[in-house]
Formats: sequence, C-alpha cells, structure tokens
Amino acid sequence: MLYDNLSVNDAGHLCIAGIDACELAAEFGTPLYVLDEDRVRKNCRAYVEAMHSYLPEGSRPLYAGKALCFKGIYPVIEEEGMGADVVSGGEVATALVAGFPADLLFFHGSNKTDAEIAYGVEKGVGCFVVDNLNELGVLSREAQAHDITQRILLRVTVGLDPHTLAAINTGKVDSQFGVPIETGQALEFARQALATPGVEVMGFHSHIGSQIFEPDSFCDQVDRLLAFACSVRDELGFVAQTFNLGGGFGVPYVEEDPTVDIAANIAAIAAHLSDGCARTNYPMPRVLLEPGRSIVANAGVTLYTAGGTKTIEGYRSYVMVDGGMTDNPRYALYKSAYTVLNASHAADDADFACTIAGRCCESGDRIAEDITLARPERGDIIAVLTTGAYNFAMSSNYNRVLRPALVMLRDGKARLAVHRQTIDDLLALEV
Ligand SMILES: *Cc1c(COP(=O)(O)O)cnc(C)c1O
Repeated sequence: MLYDNLSVNDAGHLCIAGIDACELAAEFGTPLYVLDEDRVRKNCRAYVEAMHSYLPEGSRPLYAGKALCFKGIYPVIEEEGMGADVVSGGEVATALVAGFPADLLFFHGSNKTDAEIAYGVEKGVGCFVVDNLNELGVLSREAQAHDITQRILLRVTVGLDPHTLAAINTGKVDSQFGVPIETGQALEFARQALATPGVEVMGFHSHIGSQIFEPDSFCDQVDRLLAFACSVRDELGFVAQTFNLGGGFGVPYVEEDPTVDIAANIAAIAAHLSDGCARTNYPMPRVLLEPGRSIVANAGVTLYTAGGTKTIEGYRSYVMVDGGMTDNPRYALYKSAYTVLNASHAADDADFACTIAGRCCESGDRIAEDITLARPERGDIIAVLTTGAYNFAMSSNYNRVLRPALVMLRDGKARLAVHRQTIDDLLALEV
C-alpha cells in the first residue's frame, strides 16, 4: 500500500486509518472526500519538530490553505503549532470563522483587491506578503487609516527553475508572482517598501514551485535569496529578520514516486543557510516554510461508486465513476498521476487494465489513464489515493454536478466536516 494508514480487512475492503472505506461510502454517500486527521497532524509535527530543532527561535511552518481550505482544518493546524497562509478574502474569513488567530495569518496573492487589503488590515492579519508595488500604496494607506504598522514580507523571484511542471513552477524570472531579483527590480521594490509609511519590512519571501523532491533546489533558492539580502544590506542598510522559503515539498502519488524526508530536507536547508550566513556575516534569520500539499495530500482519499465498465474493442476499457474532474481536476489540468484501487475488493489481484473516466460531458474528464485494479462491478467502491491537496479546493459545479461531502477521521471515528452540496445550495444564488 502506498501509505501505512491504509490496510485491508477480513471482508477484503480497503480501510483508511482502520475504518472500512465501503462503510464510509454507505454512511456518507459518494463521491466522498475522506481526510485522515491523525495523518494531517503527523505531517504537521514533522515540520514543527524539525524547524524547532534546526532553525532559530520564531521559525515555523505556515499551512498553505489553498491546498485544502475549509473550517475544520484550522483547529488542527492551530493545535499543531502552525501559522497559515491565506490567498483571498474568502480564505481569511474561513480561517477566522474557524477561530484561527489573525496574527498567525500571512496574506498572499499577486492581485489582492483594495477591498481584500482593507479587510485583512481591519481583521488584524499578522503579515502581508506584498507581491508587487501596486499593492504597497493601498496597504500603506489602510495601515495608516487604522493607525497600525503592518508587518510585511516582500515577495521576490530568485530566477530558479526546479524541474517541475511549468504550471506549478513559480520561481522563474518570467512569472506573475513576485518581483525579480535578476532585473534589479527587487532591489528597487525593497527601497520603496523601506520608505513606505505604515509598514514594517520583516524580510523576504520566495516560493520556487511545487512537488519538489530534491533539497538541492531549496539550497539554490537559499543561496540566491541570501545573496539578494546581502545586496539589500549593502545598498540600503536593511537586514532581514525573516526568510520565507515558500512551500513545495513533494509527496508520492504512485509507487514510483520518491518520498521526501521532511526532517532531513529541513536539516539540509538549515545547515546550508547557516553556512551561507556565516560566510557573508549575515545574522541568521528566522525561517518560515509554507507547506500545503505535504500536509494534507497523503491524508486524503476520494471514494467513488463505480457505474460499471465499458470496453472499446481493440482500444481500452473504462471504469466509470460518479465524480471526476468536478471533484478532482488535476488529471485534466496537469495529467497528474494517481493510485486507484477497488476498495470493495482490495485484496484481489489488480489485473484489470483500464482508464478511470469521470461523469462529465468532456472527453478530458479522467482521473487516471492506463492503470490496473481489480475489475469492478457496478456498485463497487473505487478509492483514489493522495487526494487531500488541490482536490476539494479545486472542485467545481461543472455540468451542475454537486460537490461531495468531506469527512474527517480521528481515533477510529468518522465525522462529517463539510455537508454534501444540495440542489438548493446549487440554486441559492440564482435570482
Ligand atoms: C502553492 C503555494 C504554497 C504551497 O505549495 P505546496 O506545493 O502545496 O506545498 C506555498 N506558498 C506559496 C506562495 C504558494 O503559492
């Protein structure tokens, strides 16, 4: 099994954190998002403990809520000692309604609206990650209107190309996120920010991409960010207290994918930064990381009911499921690989070669292509693993398919955390 929280019981059913997936499907319906809360907590602890061990006081992981944002995740994140990234007024509101402390929120986004900036300042968001000069003036005005000094980080791009998909690579010079170091614009950004009233620059932020497996990319990033910080010190006399290195640690989706040792990666980054700081005589900054995927992805499983199979003679077989790109658009967007099991016959040989097709009127609506699983009958429960990140968060109502429910598992019990959308919900905004 891809993860050690998965097992097979005497009935031959897949169990998630010890709970029978077929029973979950029967109780809550399908499609169903299942989130193993204990696994989320374990992932949080890997970051919190390693950052505590290897990095200066005040260093901490911030959960990137864009991976999976709903009220129920925030108490977990808070209890585990993490801060959180938010990228819209909607994410700020979700975190606050869930009781998450505003001062532990970091407000991201390459085009925050005036209204979102005003809302964030009014609610006491701890730190804005300022993406560009366009928003700086608005933030300054709002901070002064509220008579506060707003803490900020400046988002820069280090010009690095980790070997991931273009769609999730954000560290290159040519990017809509942040201000490039290479062109000299980041230095000018720092100059202007340092002269802006109502804000206090705490340091710099850079995020190089997602689904990254090698610590080398992060070490390159550290080198470039530190070189930039040194030039800011030399030119402007400013020393950063904080380096935010973004998110991006990878997780395995299929057996062939490597596994990232979170603690070892953090130790490598910390040693690299501390050497660099010693070499350049730069005071060791506190470090923030922004894991999203690596906190929730492997805690999530999606359950579907199979509608049956369809074999196109001479071509391929399809397994039809009662969801698809509406609850998981990642195959349609990026051709992302997934591991799929027949949860009703999890002990049987996975010998049926097929493609998993969703229910939308769209030939690209697939969950996985050319995989094998135990041949399903209509009514069998199909499990797609590693769906905790960027699934619920990216779901849509395309074809007016209703959004699934989400259940959280803890201590051998399941509890409903998000209701299944109803037709009334679907029509609620229509005049
Ligand atoms: C998406 C994103 C993250 C989280 O990335 P993961 O790959 O999910 O860890 C963190 N920081 C920023 C700025 C992001 O855009």
